[in-house]
Amino acid sequence: MIRSLRLRLFWVHALLLIAAIAIVTVIESRIERQWMLDRNAISLERVAHQAARFIPDDEASRRGDWARALAARDSATGLRFTLIRRDGHVFADTRADSLLLDDHSNRPEVRAALAGRTGNSVHKSHALGMEMQYVAVPAHGHVPYAVVRVAEPLEMVRRLDATLEQRALLTATLTVLGMFVVLFFLTGRQMARVSELEAIAGRIGSGDPLARALELPDDELGRLGAALNRMSSELRDRLAALEMERDEREHILGHMNDGVALLDGQGRILHCNDSLAGLLGADRPAKPGTPFAAFVRAPELDELVRRARSVGGVRVLDLRLWTPRPRFVRASVTPLGAAKHDAVLLVLHDLTEIEAVNRVRQDFVANVSHELRTPLTSLRGYAETLLDGGLEDEQHRVQFVEIIREQAVRLEALVNDLLSLAELERPDAPVRDAIFDLRVAAARQVAAFSESARRAGLALTLEPGESVPVRTESARLEQVLANLLDNAIKYTEEGSVTVRLGTTGSRGWCEVSDTGPGIPAEEQPRIFERFYRVDKARSREKGGTGLGLSIVKHIVGLHGGEMSVRSELGQGSTFRFELPTG
Ligand code: ADP
Repeated sequence: MIRSLRLRLFWVHALLLIAAIAIVTVIESRIERQWMLDRNAISLERVAHQAARFIPDDEASRRGDWARALAARDSATGLRFTLIRRDGHVFADTRADSLLLDDHSNRPEVRAALAGRTGNSVHKSHALGMEMQYVAVPAHGHVPYAVVRVAEPLEMVRRLDATLEQRALLTATLTVLGMFVVLFFLTGRQMARVSELEAIAGRIGSGDPLARALELPDDELGRLGAALNRMSSELRDRLAALEMERDEREHILGHMNDGVALLDGQGRILHCNDSLAGLLGADRPAKPGTPFAAFVRAPELDELVRRARSVGGVRVLDLRLWTPRPRFVRASVTPLGAAKHDAVLLVLHDLTEIEAVNRVRQDFVANVSHELRTPLTSLRGYAETLLDGGLEDEQHRVQFVEIIREQAVRLEALVNDLLSLAELERPDAPVRDAIFDLRVAAARQVAAFSESARRAGLALTLEPGESVPVRTESARLEQVLANLLDNAIKYTEEGSVTVRLGTTGSRGWCEVSDTGPGIPAEEQPRIFERFYRVDKARSREKGGTGLGLSIVKHIVGLHGGEMSVRSELGQGSTFRFELPTG
């Protein structure tokens, strides 16, 4: 099979051309042959009439002379003359013995001549055994002779015909060859345009934005070029829209907190986002085509996907993933079609933080209940003792009431601290900060605590220095200082409590140092947790709520500052906070 359109076009046209020229040549040679026979018939008729005119009608011997004369002429011209009588018998024939010739009245040309017309026919001569053209004319006035027939061997006509045919064939061959050259050139030109369009279509297919087809001349190929150009620009627009859509989707999926993966019917990952990789402890998302089981290594998830496929419907499961960091996730698998080989969508929702918050809340409630129970039990116990006759016990009743008041104060302190924490932890906690001198606040708090320090036998001093402007809310800043001073005085048996202030770069800082028992290194990170106490009994005895430092840390953090502690067992402690100056 010819695979080149150009060759196919060429050969189709060439064959059509050959067929057309062959038909024309054959028809033409037929017409020519007939034309030659017709012309020949006219000259034979003329000869026959001349011969008829000289037939002597008297003596038989003179007719014999006429026949001999014609025979002599026959040998010169190649013509055969026959004189036929009315009854069809041949009287004389210049080529054959008339006596041997049969009745000629049935020959078509003789029949016509006997009927008074000129007869003309081509057939094979019985006597001579060759094809001949015959023309017979009536011989009027020469009774009993009726017909003069002149015949010529077709051989001559054939020879002429063959020569003409040869020439016609040569002309046809030259014409075909000439047309071949023209055809080859024309098909070549059209095919060059087709090849160019093919190349442009290939470039459009491979996404070349600069590919443009020729639109001229405005024929079918030109219009095909214009259609290709339109298709190309439409393709570009659609590709751009698709790319934008894909980028948006990738963007959304990439920035989602939930892990999302699309799995095909064979359990291979078609797409997965960064969050899913992160939740599963992988460095980067799985490449498309990665088997899900190999990427995830969590049999429960595998099983969940299998169940969603076999049973259908959305399957949800809360599970713990032991990726480097333990995670608690809610996995939901949604089949995206009814058939088993359809894709499924897996979404992992990270519940770790929510679970942690819930645990913190539960711990907090348990801690608060525990903290409340001790003073409440004590209150109830002493109140009942008083009611059960304690009021009459003059020796102890004042002491009981003092204990009741002490527990009430403790409860009040606890509730106040809880309220402070609740206020600070509100997501919309207002921060009304302004530039404020830390030294002024420190001086005020040192003055406020000087009495309790004196009672505890401690020297409370504020080291002198420059003013330290910080951006903060004055009331909260004083609460920080108060809590730190309260702790320092509360936990220091003897020695001193010193407050130092200063500015380093864009931060103002304050340190509250004491000569107390110090805090073991391993406990230091935890003392800012709510209700965490190093020495529980001592803290309670001193009326501590376990919330002071967590309030301090919260306030400092809320104002963009940092809180730290330096301490060594038996060497005292230094609590330091820093706040931005402006
Ligand atoms: P509390 O109300 O018990 O003082 P805080 O949150 O203020 O609660 O402090 C937490 C714990 O840190 C205290 O129970 C105490 O054990 C320890 N602590 C705080 N300040 C000091 C200090 N200056 N010296 C020694 N220990 C301290």
